[in-house]
Parts: sequence; structure tokens; C-alpha cells
Amino acid sequence: MRILYVEDEKFLADAVCHNLVKNGIDVDHSADGEDGLEKAVSNSYDCIVLDIMLPKLSGIEILERLREKKNSTPVIMLSALAEVEDKVRGLDSGADDYLAKPFKTVELIARINALLRRPSKMSEQILTFGDLSYDEKRKTLNGTELTAKEAKIICELIKANGRLISKEFLLGRIWGEDSYGDDNYIEVYISRLRKVMREVGARTQIKASRGLGYKLVEM
Ligand code: CA
Repeated sequence: MRILYVEDEKFLADAVCHNLVKNGIDVDHSADGEDGLEKAVSNSYDCIVLDIMLPKLSGIEILERLREKKNSTPVIMLSALAEVEDKVRGLDSGADDYLAKPFKTVELIARINALLRRPSKMSEQILTFGDLSYDEKRKTLNGTELTAKEAKIICELIKANGRLISKEFLLGRIWGEDSYGDDNYIEVYISRLRKVMREVGARTQIKASRGLGYKLVEM
């Protein structure tokens, strides 16, 4: 997949380009509107990501000219001004989607993938059970960031897919086989995880089984 990204803020552009490349997306970058339009008409891209406020030509002007030329490459507009007016103008000009700044690169990738109707690479890193969704890359459970040990525990529980896993197994996985980890540690982390799950409103629960271990249960 190859995209064109037109963005004049250097630091933002560098960071986003770096993350896109890391996720297997080839990206051409333009720092101003004229260069962006030039690249857009002389290359074939799977998607074009346009900032609105740009030197020389605005993102909306680029988009209008592309559509005049019957170029139907999917376009995602970006804007720091999270105003409805911008959004409406962008969509009126033929944008396929709109993302307000600041945004996370994962959001941008999700939008690109949605536009191209391709399975998201990111989804490979999402583990789910019931209404729980754990993002391995970001270490978040339903959007809430976890500590490293909480993350390891929920990861094992989700992978167990409702089967009971013992405290010994968890201790081994989290502190290493030959550690002197205490059962109580596990309980502390389990209670923290339960708190997170309550806070995110998850119906799935962690059930303890006679002190033997834990499992996830869909309620
Ligand atoms: Ca800008």
C-alpha cells in the first residue's frame, strides 16, 4: 500500500511517516500544497491524506482540483481546527473521511484500512474475549492503559479463552519459572484488573476458582 501524506508540520509529519512505514505502508510526503498536488496527479496512490492548512495550496484546494480531474483516489482530510465547518467543507469537496488533530497514527491507519476495505494489520494485535479488547501493542484494555504485569495477566486470561489458568502458571509467566513470586502478588494484580474492567464498564469478569486459579466469564 502506498499513500501520499501532505503535511507542513515537520515533527508531526516525521512521526506519522515513521509509524506508517513501521506498519508496512509506503508513504510519500509533501510539505506544501503545490508539491502535494503535483505528486498526487503524477503518481498512483491507494490513499491521500491531506492536512487542510498548508502553504501555497490548502488541502481543500488540492482535493477540489483532484476531483475536477476525475481523480477518485480516497482522501482523508486532517485539520487542527476541529470545527464542523471544516469537516462539512472537506466532505463537500469530495473527501472520503475526516480526522481531527491531534490523532494517533493507529487511528489514521484504521481509517485508511476502512477506506480501502482491507483487513487492518492492527487487528492482529488485538485480543478479544466477550466485551474485552486488549491491544497488545499499546497495552490497553478497552482503551485503558495497563501496567506491564497487568497486561501480561489479562493477555494470558484472554488467550485461555474462558479456561481456568492456575496461579502457578501465571506466576511462571509473569515472574519467570524460578521466581519466588507470591500468590498474593497475583491477587493484587487481579484485583487491579477487576477495577479497570469495572471502570470501562465491561460485563466480562475474572472469576477465581477455589484459590486454584482464574478464568474469564462472560456475564
Ligand atoms: Ca498545517
